[in-house]
Amino acid sequence: MMVALASVSTPAAIVRGYDVLISAGHEGRPESCARFPERHCYLGTAGEREWTPIVADAATHVLREYGVRVVRLPADYADTYAVRAAVFIHFDGAIPACSSGASVGYPSAKDRLTAALWKRLYGRFFRFGFRPDNFSIGLREYYGYDQARTTNGAYVLELGEMTCPAQRAWLAPRLHWLGALVAYWIGRVIGRDVPFPRRRLGAAQ
Ligand SMILES: [Zn+2]
Repeated sequence: MMVALASVSTPAAIVRGYDVLISAGHEGRPESCARFPERHCYLGTAGEREWTPIVADAATHVLREYGVRVVRLPADYADTYAVRAAVFIHFDGAIPACSSGASVGYPSAKDRLTAALWKRLYGRFFRFGFRPDNFSIGLREYYGYDQARTTNGAYVLELGEMTCPAQRAWLAPRLHWLGALVAYWIGRVIGRDVPFPRRRLGAAQ
């Protein structure tokens, strides 16, 4: 029998019982920043905190509809989650505008093919191009990777560049559909049947 000693150095709990973790980038900040002073507490590109929860909620809704157990989290949380896949939703910002696009980050090279599947799926619709995988430190060393123990990978999805007017205009009416596309991809990643979103869902909020 293990005896747990309460102490400030006790690692955060490992939470089990979910298939997928979905976090909305920057959601809950700046309020949550005080609890995690070691983090940079980046608030995201202008408008990003409004968009990431819409996509994360839509993906969560679809996955739950098909029996996938999702833990839906904001940007900052204390525990570590043992899940099959973890997805962190973001949009990029760039100077100069329109020098970036979509991209994918992941901590382990073995997840490259799963990222390639996402790029193939999304690239059929998103015509503004992808930056190389893990091209930024924010993608390579995302803080959330440390709080996900996954069997099928942890991924940061940058879904496009909000500072680029053409990309922003394309993305704005597609946020719900984007969530459903993410849900379809996650279904593929964890071996669960989630239908492909055939039509554009909903409008920008
Ligand atoms: Zn972001």
